[in-house]
Amino acid sequence: MAYQITCPSCQQEGLDPRQSTATCSHCAKQFKIVGFCPTCHVELERLQACGASEFFCNTCNSMISKRQAEYQITPV
Ligand SMILES: [Zn+2]
Ligand SMILES: [Zn+2]
Repeated sequence: MAYQITCPSCQQEGLDPRQSTATCSHCAKQFKIVGFCPTCHVELERLQACGASEFFCNTCNSMISKRQAEYQITPV
């Protein structure tokens, strides 16, 4: 099952961080999801390729997995 992050509305894991705008699979609310680097805290570039790593940090010049990334979730 794909890794999902916790929805700020219903507190259940229902948001797919691979999508820039994700719909919660539990409460159907929409959120804008931005990933940040856990090391330098800049906004991460979202990669289209499938696999374990979904983000890239241009400052650290390294791949960041969606489990490592920090997220800012804002309602759409
Ligand atoms: Zn929800
Ligand atoms: Zn970084």
